[in-house]
Amino acid sequence: MGTPERIVIVGGGVAGFSAAQELRSRGYAGALTLVSPEGLPYDRPPLSKGYLLGTEDAGRILLAPESWYAEHGVEVVAARATALDLSGYRPVAVLERGTRLGADRLLVATGALPRRLGIPGGERALALRSRGDADALRRVLVPGARIAVVGAGLIGAEVASAAAALGADATLIDPVATPLVPAVGEDLALRLHAMHGERGVATLVAAPAAIEDGTHDAAPHLVRLAGGRAVAADAVVVGVGVTPDTALAEAAGLEADDGIVVGPDGSTSHHAVFAAGDATRVRRQVAVVRGGPPAVLQRRAEHWEAAVRSGQAAAAGMLGEAPAEVGAPWFWSDRHGVHVEAVGTMDARQAPGARTVLREADGVPVAAFLVAADGHLLGAAAIDQPLVVRAARRIIDRGLVPDPDRLADPSVDPRRLAR
Ligand SMILES: Cc1cc2nc3c(=O)[nH]c(=O)nc-3n(C[C@H](O)[C@H](O)[C@H](O)COP(=O)(O)OP(=O)(O)OC[C@H]3O[C@@H](n4cnc5c(N)ncnc54)[C@H](O)[C@@H]3O)c2cc1C
Repeated sequence: MGTPERIVIVGGGVAGFSAAQELRSRGYAGALTLVSPEGLPYDRPPLSKGYLLGTEDAGRILLAPESWYAEHGVEVVAARATALDLSGYRPVAVLERGTRLGADRLLVATGALPRRLGIPGGERALALRSRGDADALRRVLVPGARIAVVGAGLIGAEVASAAAALGADATLIDPVATPLVPAVGEDLALRLHAMHGERGVATLVAAPAAIEDGTHDAAPHLVRLAGGRAVAADAVVVGVGVTPDTALAEAAGLEADDGIVVGPDGSTSHHAVFAAGDATRVRRQVAVVRGGPPAVLQRRAEHWEAAVRSGQAAAAGMLGEAPAEVGAPWFWSDRHGVHVEAVGTMDARQAPGARTVLREADGVPVAAFLVAADGHLLGAAAIDQPLVVRAARRIIDRGLVPDPDRLADPSVDPRRLAR
């Protein structure tokens, strides 16, 4: 493949935007078009935080001001792609109203869609993925409103926290007694979940069975729970995960398996089509040895930084250049006024023989480390301790073997942990 002269990116989320930004910073000087039905790309994490609370407006959450696109020669087309035509040598994005955008390289960055509740009446629940969804949610999160949130994972917990802060009466429903254990480990998950009750959010351990018309308490909705209980609500919100939006890619015949299958450089099963972000799943060589294990399909990342990095990696791939090395995965979440971060993996089920080391302050766990049987650090999570997570990240990325006593000792300056 020669040097591309025209690149089209389908999807203006943070992955598509980061790819455009990276293409320009790598010196790509050809035509660059970003197909983004919602117009100028904006950031999603604030939708369940500052934007939902009303402390950040639509302008604040843009990934770049309008002037950036003109300065960097990025044309934003506010339309939806309805198909990818891969019948010729050059891929073509077909837009609504029939416009055809041919390209030397095409990037699919269509993101993910909220998983719906597969129960009778499940379609009544509001989901949160787009700015429009957040606007709809803001209208119902008013003082005194009864809000039932189904799913106490990252998004559900953030929505319940925002609801409480706005004076609504939130009930968080999840069949798992302590959600997020695989993401942050058991000790921090327990502490985080307990915060809901402390901040006035009711928590129920139950599976929803149906959402019906409210017939009592003048509530428009009634969430029926398995076991017979019911929760009356003015609005029901669902936060039970996402599914990759692979519709365009699959219809065009690209390989997909719970995500568009990509290499570490975003390459897909078509020579000129790349993909990035929440829509994808990376196939990576775990050990580069002759006759060694075959490449394995990794779990989808579904976090902001992973989407940024995969957009950057695909930009490199589209230019025929090597992507930057990826380090341990990282994410953050904010709820009830605290900041949670995690790096690597805290999922002890995936690491037989691993043990958890806790760092406590006044008897309360503030950080947890998952240490492998051979002493290597697999992951860390922390509440309001960004420096600890930064140090843990360095330890993991450099393959260091930390001293567990120093990890646990709150008097050890986090900046000295990776030395
Ligand atoms: C409410 C919320 C809060 C979050 N908070 C955090 C957080 O605190 N920390 C964290 O690490 N991560 C967080 N995330 C996750 C993070 O935002 C996502 O991982 C990231 O946005 C994924 O980026 P993406 O570009 O792959 O996909 P998206 O952001 O989903 O963007 C995909 C874009 O593609 C467009 N598209 C889809 N189909 C088409 C088509 N046919 N034609 C053209 N365009 C199309 C969509 O309209 C969308 O704009 C949060 C996500 C949400 C929704």
